[in-house]
Amino acid sequence: MKIRKLALGLLVGALALTACGKEGAPTAPGGGSAPAGSDAALTYPVASNVALTGSTTFDKIKQRGKLVLGIREDQPGLGYKDATTGKRSGFDVEIARMVAAGLGYGDDKIEYKAVPSAAREDTISRGDIDYMVGTYTINDNRKQRVSFAGPYFVAGQALLVRKDETAITGKDTLKGKKVCSVTGSTPIQRVKDQGLTEPANIVEFQTYSQCVDQLISKQVDAVTTDDAILKGFAAVQPEDLKVVGEPFSKEPYGIGLNKDDSALRGKINDLLQAAIDDGTWKKIYDGTLGKSGSPGTPPALQRY
Ligand code: GLU
Repeated sequence: MKIRKLALGLLVGALALTACGKEGAPTAPGGGSAPAGSDAALTYPVASNVALTGSTTFDKIKQRGKLVLGIREDQPGLGYKDATTGKRSGFDVEIARMVAAGLGYGDDKIEYKAVPSAAREDTISRGDIDYMVGTYTINDNRKQRVSFAGPYFVAGQALLVRKDETAITGKDTLKGKKVCSVTGSTPIQRVKDQGLTEPANIVEFQTYSQCVDQLISKQVDAVTTDDAILKGFAAVQPEDLKVVGEPFSKEPYGIGLNKDDSALRGKINDLLQAAIDDGTWKKIYDGTLGKSGSPGTPPALQRY
């Protein structure tokens, strides 16, 4: 049991390293199931002669001949990169690829950048990425600096605990417990705003895999963020982790992009709507999030 715990700790530690951009660490999920979504094997027809007038972002993309996308690399089932094979998988990865194909860019014309929660608005508004697909909740605060296509999924805040935990069963059982989440995320803000635990018991990291590492090594008692993210981690280590309680927020995921680029936003919304209508969305969901047990129906787009 000790050895297995250690192995899992190493796995999650390796995921955290990946998130920092250091590759080459061994990450084979020994004994556990493969990260949800690793065999999605989805392909999307690459559009040709796409014309998009009035989009400064698209003009820049055309000039450089490739897309630069913001993504996550340590969230199994959503945005994950296998450090050994380099293969990316997950719902967000597939949504990013599907949209890229609709804009005329196949896999060989996509450069991915791992962008942590706290850096998203800055990275987008500086123009360092063309769009961000990374568990990015649409809200009014963020809309002051970026804009969103979507939502393409709706998650809800939940709790991840160790499998043998009995005291933590929901958001109102966190007092006196150490709770880990990510800097710049909506869930950590909610923990603070609602006083779900004492300020001294809130532990912050840049990535969720670091929080999961802390949970496994008993430095913290719970990890809180979107249920879709937590279920992905629990699906990789079902003997050690479980998601508890009812979701206590709505987290509509949007594709974040330049605030003033309404032409690109409209085009991405069209591509999302087409994917919902022709069954592509469902295929992506079934191959990724559906496997880690996140309920999913395509939400209605909020065009603005
Ligand atoms: N959806 C939440 C947010 O955008 C939490 C997930 C994340 O940190 O990416 O803040």
